[in-house]
Amino acid sequence: VKSIAVLTSGGDSQGMNAAVRAVVRSALYYGLEVYGVQRGYQGLINDDLRQMDLRSVGDIIQRGGTILQTARCKEFMTPEGQERGAQVLRNRGIDGLVVIGGDGSYQGANKLSKLGIKTMGLPGTIDNDIPFTDFTIGFDTAVSIVVDAINKLRDTMTSHERSSVVEVMGRHCGDIALYAGLASGAETILVPEIPFNLDEVSKRMQDNFKHGKRHSIILVAEGAGKGEDVARHITDCCGIEPRVTVLGHIQRGGAPTHNDRVLASQLGDFAVRQLMEGESAKSCGIIRGELVGTDIDKVVNTKKPFNMEMYNLALRLSQ
Ligand code: ATP
Repeated sequence: VKSIAVLTSGGDSQGMNAAVRAVVRSALYYGLEVYGVQRGYQGLINDDLRQMDLRSVGDIIQRGGTILQTARCKEFMTPEGQERGAQVLRNRGIDGLVVIGGDGSYQGANKLSKLGIKTMGLPGTIDNDIPFTDFTIGFDTAVSIVVDAINKLRDTMTSHERSSVVEVMGRHCGDIALYAGLASGAETILVPEIPFNLDEVSKRMQDNFKHGKRHSIILVAEGAGKGEDVARHITDCCGIEPRVTVLGHIQRGGAPTHNDRVLASQLGDFAVRQLMEGESAKSCGIIRGELVGTDIDKVVNTKKPFNMEMYNLALRLSQ
């Protein structure tokens, strides 16, 4: 490859900018031309590309969001849309594309590779729901934000002897709730991967209350249920009235942690090197410290395994 492009797609995540910076600077270092595509696949179809130089990615490593902006694009779901996107790249002599995004964005990259464009996927999502990488770009920052919020809630909840239900992101993957729950000492962690019984949760809270515990944190991944519903059930069951906090999009903003910046930098550079080696339709990840490329086909057809050991640890420590 001589010329590549980079885009961000789907929901944004902290560290996407650090990844864009790594792709651009590595490409230039290795002597490639590099283009930034504005607004994901929508911008690709609209030929909204600009050539990037070293300075175009200055002063962004510390910023949340994405300077390339992101979008969801229906047209790109169709074969005609995909062909238009591929044609835009061919017309400009661009033969490689790095896609930073989640599951859906990966599928788009897969389709483009079948049309002769070499593609690489970088896992950019706070949910940590992409398999074949230990962590996705943005996850570490999102967990830090949740832990920080729970620290604040704990102060006020302890003063008032109240319990808190905290709803966090994670539609299919409960990792944000799991890691933040373990790190903040939550009493209960509800995730989509593990069935739960709210009557038992209420009973446990009541028992804890009898044994002198005056406050508790119940962390709910959005895919496991709504915080409001969980709180109502607990109140109906045992009379305890937890306060509900829905953290929402706060979890997707702010400066990326050093872990996310380092991960994004390593993966961005790896993606460029993979393209130069002629690889295509791969997802770039880090597994136990090692950089790995895995077929996107395999990645999108595999469910990320849930870390049962960590879940049990959180339970053991939350008594
Ligand atoms: P998040 O995890 O934040 O939801 P995502 O990348 O999964 O991120 P999607 O909205 O699913 O977000 O996908 C982003 C874009 O990728 C879509 O708007 C669409 O343009 C493209 N896309 C998604 N699925 C496909 C598919 N099956 N084929 C081609 N393109 C797709």
